[in-house]
Amino acid sequence: MTKRDYYEILGVPKTASQDEIKKAYRKLALKYHPDKNPNNKEAEDKFKEASQAYQALGDENKRKQYDQFGHAGMEGGPGFGQGADFSDIFSSFGDIFGDIFGGGQRTRGRAKKTGPTPMRGHDLTSSIQISLKESFLGVKKDVLIYHYVVCQTCNGSGAKAGTKTSVCEKCHGTGTVNFSRGFFAFSQPCDACGGQGFKITSPCATCHGQTRIQKREKISINIPAGIFNGAELRVKSKGDAGIFGGPAGDLYITVNIEADKQFWRKNNDLITNLNLTYPQLVLGCQIEVESIDGSKHTVKIPKGCQVGKEIIIVGNGFAIPGRYNQKGNLVFITQCDIPTKLDEETKKALLEYDKKLGEQVKNSSGGISGFFKKFLG
Ligand SMILES: [Zn+2]
Ligand SMILES: [Zn+2]
Repeated sequence: MTKRDYYEILGVPKTASQDEIKKAYRKLALKYHPDKNPNNKEAEDKFKEASQAYQALGDENKRKQYDQFGHAGMEGGPGFGQGADFSDIFSSFGDIFGDIFGGGQRTRGRAKKTGPTPMRGHDLTSSIQISLKESFLGVKKDVLIYHYVVCQTCNGSGAKAGTKTSVCEKCHGTGTVNFSRGFFAFSQPCDACGGQGFKITSPCATCHGQTRIQKREKISINIPAGIFNGAELRVKSKGDAGIFGGPAGDLYITVNIEADKQFWRKNNDLITNLNLTYPQLVLGCQIEVESIDGSKHTVKIPKGCQVGKEIIIVGNGFAIPGRYNQKGNLVFITQCDIPTKLDEETKKALLEYDKKLGEQVKNSSGGISGFFKKFLG
């Protein structure tokens, strides 16, 4: 019986692109997949046939050979032809089946690993508390972290000086182990050696073969002026050290800003209340005020100033992160300072003043809203 033409099997023209060939194969593989067609000999044969056709046409070199010599050009190749081992077929088709089933690890050959695989260290997180004033000015702070650093005894090799590593018996140095599910062969990192392909026979006494040790370390960080509450600072390479020369992870520090008793922040403005006396508000005045950093500013309170008015000192607020030389405003909100204790003389003056104003209580629109009864004391 003569073999069917591979192009015919996949249902593509001889001029088909690699992409078209791959697509056609995927379609057939899904249709005739043994998991979908249990105990169906015909489907199984079709599946094998399509896989063989794809193995030839999906590879540029093999396809050339096939185009030139037909099936004769295909005989005798390793792991190829009727007797091909299925797990071999599937492992070399890992990319396609990975796409289709999204399942197991892909395998591309099972070459022995020649050396350890460097692995990146983990990123770490930490947090720090600073005052509002420190966030306003910017501050340098130390953070104590507990992270992995490369073992100095073995220089990160994990092995005792002068000793060698041995090939892992479980995966024979490939770092992966294969297992099959139905017709499919999957592979996953070897659990005996952590996917490294070898084992450390005489571990370093300091790190016990871990290549790293945990260490407490003080990290100095510069917190820029204007930083927001909850902002995250990245300190490069201060996370866990990598393994076998892999890069270190990063350290992420969340900055928490304590509430201040006097000042608060809104967007990029620094805000505080400004307590004035009733006469200062009524008559207007010029007064010196102090910001959170101790800097002094002279502001003018207009005549007849109401409570709750915002006195704005432009450009003296928080630095705007990422914008050079740009700042928010410093804002003072006027408040009326009501004295709780008065001497007799002041009290008398106040009553005198009250007499002048008249006894009627007016509401905000100027209408009469109530009647004065009496002073309490
Ligand atoms: Zn060590
Ligand atoms: Zn292994």
